[in-house]
Amino acid sequence: MLSGFVFPLVFVPLLSGCSKPMDAQTEYVLGTICTVNLFDRGTTEIYHEIFSRLREIDDRMSANKADTDLDRINKNAGIAAVKVHPDVVSVVSEALHFADISDGAFDPSVGPLVNLWGIGTDGAHIPESQEIAKTLPLINWRDVVVDPKAETVYLKRPGMRLDLGAIAKGYAADEVARIVRDHGIPRAIIDLGGNVLAYGSKKDGSPWRIGIQDPLGNRGSYIGIVQVINKTLVTSGVYERFFIKDGKRYHHILSTKDGYPVQNGLDSVTIIGDRSIDADGLSTTVFALGYERGKELVESLLSVEAIFVFNDKTIKATSGVEKNFKLENSAYTLVE
Ligand code: ADP
Ligand code: MG
Repeated sequence: MLSGFVFPLVFVPLLSGCSKPMDAQTEYVLGTICTVNLFDRGTTEIYHEIFSRLREIDDRMSANKADTDLDRINKNAGIAAVKVHPDVVSVVSEALHFADISDGAFDPSVGPLVNLWGIGTDGAHIPESQEIAKTLPLINWRDVVVDPKAETVYLKRPGMRLDLGAIAKGYAADEVARIVRDHGIPRAIIDLGGNVLAYGSKKDGSPWRIGIQDPLGNRGSYIGIVQVINKTLVTSGVYERFFIKDGKRYHHILSTKDGYPVQNGLDSVTIIGDRSIDADGLSTTVFALGYERGKELVESLLSVEAIFVFNDKTIKATSGVEKNFKLENSAYTLVE
């Protein structure tokens, strides 16, 4: 960390009770390990402001906690529109945008399916095919109604459930960057469970070096390094939450078509962009769309790049990222 070399998901221990400035702070929030490093500008007060904001976002958007805005929306499915905080209006609206451009491959109403599989929880299991067939009709982003003026969200049918797990961390990272900017702090590494925002540059003006997780390696082992200034890098992959049954891996990005974990030859997709909410939404969207359609989508967008890691250990990158990406793992091959 101090050298400016950052592995997503590797964090610096919390320096509790030390005098200011403090180098980095780590807390478990948003369902993951979050580390923010403000380098020599970190103070107890600013870290407190940042982590309070992260907890606030979690308390509004978590689908698994009682009484969050999201929980109230879900409990009122088919009953009533629910008044929510503007944070939630923004994130649900963005999520619906990704649903729209992916023709529903990304769908924030995937909640019932996420619950059915329970991936990442103690209850993770392969559902019966009839259960999947019963659940699929509940998933349709077109039945999610956002009224930005009234600040309400309504799920049209009973049993529907929103899940913002694919996009909330991106929003949260952008909010941390906003706080950093408001305080006039020149550089920061914001790592929300691998959703990385590399703010500014290293002190000498050179780019940050961010490691891309090896999807099948140990946590913190990487396939290569991307050099960036003021960019966000977000990865969606088969390794973040999964279980193995009879030698087969079942991971947490679910196909809204067949109800099973998406299987398209991809092990991970990393999006490099300017806004973390876009990169987070896109990483899941592109993963769900697969390489061909995903690449087409990325290439249609300005200043967004992608790195695709396939289960045959090949890697492909969009043209803009090739010069900034250095493969450093001999098990993988970068192909055109
Ligand atoms: P991570 O949360 O590990 O950073 P993602 O951003 O890719 O990874 O989000 C995966 C999460 O998104 C899942 O855990 C689940 O909550 C939700 N999800 C799963 N499938 C879909 C889908 N097809 N569309 C939208 N969200 C999804
Ligand atoms: Mg995502």
